[in-house]
Amino acid sequence: MAIELFNNGKHICLMFSDLVDEGEASVQSNQFLIVQDGTGILLDPGGVLTYNDLYMEMSKYFPPKQLRYVFASHADPDIIASLPRWLAGSETKLLISSIWSRFVPHFCAQGKTEGRIIAIPDEGSLLPLGETEFQILPAHFLHAEGNFQFYDPVSRILFSGDMGASMLPDGLAMDPVQDFDKHLPYMRGFHARYMVSNKVCRYWVEMVRKLDPEWMVPQHGAPFKGREMIGRFLDWIEALPCGVDLMTQEMYQAPRKITISL
Ligand code: FE
Repeated sequence: MAIELFNNGKHICLMFSDLVDEGEASVQSNQFLIVQDGTGILLDPGGVLTYNDLYMEMSKYFPPKQLRYVFASHADPDIIASLPRWLAGSETKLLISSIWSRFVPHFCAQGKTEGRIIAIPDEGSLLPLGETEFQILPAHFLHAEGNFQFYDPVSRILFSGDMGASMLPDGLAMDPVQDFDKHLPYMRGFHARYMVSNKVCRYWVEMVRKLDPEWMVPQHGAPFKGREMIGRFLDWIEALPCGVDLMTQEMYQAPRKITISL
């Protein structure tokens, strides 16, 4: 079912949060659709497991065949493994980091990506569409080497990809976070391991504070709404040691025993 994050009649932002069968995929993920003046942009549409349901659900708001762009924050399977289906089912082009654009054809059959992939340079880009200028924001190493986020200045939603992601227990609603401290345990482990370093977190925080979004909506788990709650997140991530900050020589030793169940 789609959740309407914003709708002024001309400009609609939808979130789909329950399309993946967690039994097999095990990681809940959100997909997003922005519709403006009859044009559609799909953000992080997900893997093959989400394709059919997302196609059906979004059809209630917008004909999928008329998609203009698919935006991929990075190249992970839960983000963009469904690409061949979207390319075949519409005229859409893919927007993705220039460092991943060369790898993306590996998801697809021979010749299917020709002229369909737009490589975003490291500095990001504005993306004009009708009267709106969307912003493709650099978020490199948060967590992928080439990583972008999508900002919609009309709804003031920052689609933050894996930043702010939470791994919620099954059945917990995708309502905006109410109690930041209670929410922290669902985010801490993920950010500490996946985000590459505190240094890049701080650069990102600096950029987002200037942007002052109304919503921050991650690709997994619950969204953040309002300056206060987003501020809590920014203060937290700004001070979080993560990724390479936490690595020690101890962790880079040749193993001496079998640690996996075969
Ligand atoms: Fe990822």
